[in-house]
Amino acid sequence: MKNDNKTPITAQNGYTDLAHLGREAHSYHGFVNIPVYRGSTVLYRTAEDFMARRQQYTYAISGTPTSRHFEEAIAKLEGGHGAILTPSGLMAITIPLLAFLSAGDHLLMVDTVYRPTRNFCEDTLKRFGVEVTYYDPLIGAKIADLIQPNTKVIFTESPGSQTMEIQDIPAIGEVARKSDILVMMDNTWATSIYFDALKMGVDITLQAVTKYISGNSDLLMGAVTARTEEQFKILRDTNLRMGTFVSPDDITLAARGLRTLRLRLEHHMKSGLEMAEWFRSRPEVAEVLHPGLPGAPGHDLWKRDFKGACSLFSVVLKPCKDEAVFAMLNTLKIFGMGASWGGFESLVTPFNPKDYRVATQWPHDGISLRFHIGLEDTADLIADLEAGFEALHKA
Ligand SMILES: *Cc1c(COP(=O)(O)O)cnc(C)c1O
Repeated sequence: MKNDNKTPITAQNGYTDLAHLGREAHSYHGFVNIPVYRGSTVLYRTAEDFMARRQQYTYAISGTPTSRHFEEAIAKLEGGHGAILTPSGLMAITIPLLAFLSAGDHLLMVDTVYRPTRNFCEDTLKRFGVEVTYYDPLIGAKIADLIQPNTKVIFTESPGSQTMEIQDIPAIGEVARKSDILVMMDNTWATSIYFDALKMGVDITLQAVTKYISGNSDLLMGAVTARTEEQFKILRDTNLRMGTFVSPDDITLAARGLRTLRLRLEHHMKSGLEMAEWFRSRPEVAEVLHPGLPGAPGHDLWKRDFKGACSLFSVVLKPCKDEAVFAMLNTLKIFGMGASWGGFESLVTPFNPKDYRVATQWPHDGISLRFHIGLEDTADLIADLEAGFEALHKA
């Protein structure tokens, strides 16, 4: 794609890239942003053209200028051959799994994966004859011991959902390459700004655009990027056959978010670390699970492989009654209680993964808390939590 300001576009994930990726103002009459192309039908000038269907755009489902430009921005940012968009982050997981797995294949799935990914494996993939083995997120190169002749995909997510384990992705990538196995990664936490998945041994990287790229809690979307042309073709063809389509309005909102992604992430990272340290100083807290925090689980691997951290982390409380935790949560005024993250607003969700993991055991009893630190002043967030802890003690 041409760049209007003659700024070199590289895959360095810098501020310049984010401001310019995927835009071609002079093909939109000079307007700065990717326009909303709304439509189903694409017209052809002649019957011969229609029969050949060789023009750049043929029907909305195979792409519009809106979707193609944003896909190009994502692919360049990730440093991959090509990207597809999906109507949700969850579909950015299910589409590549459907694209690369067939009946009789074996999938190695990280035990700490996002719960809906697990549900898709347990229900849909198993029903279609795919064998699934869950593995310990800390397994590293020992994943070699779990590989079977029919293993096709190793799926990773780092840090782990809710419990924040950091995986040794380069070690897993090296094992996978030797056996010709595809590595997929849910990279929603770090985004490609803070974890360069395709350079770390991953073949197919995906994120919920819903979270930090959108940054505003106002849409659902996913993006999947393939490292090679061959992988991209399989991915794109499956997406087409599944009939996925993403609203052009949502794409332009997501593109608006993309322009400020790095700026927001820097603020999220700073506030997230500040809040994680504050939690560590609290007498009610047993452990803070934030890989960016020195001394926290996974910190050494995080420091080796990641360029930064977002503001999603978890807090294990010292043993206390569920009702006391509920009293704390019900007192909070700034923190919303909700399942998503990556927006401008702070959130908390109670969780307990004790009953469904199979390769690993969550060692803590009772309810733990996952926090997303938004763009509010940390002093206000601390005051909100202080009131919460006071309610916890009173209950
Ligand atoms: C939220 C989330 C998803 C799914 O995104 P949706 O757009 O909500 O479907 C996938 N992976 C992770 C790690 C998430 O947090």
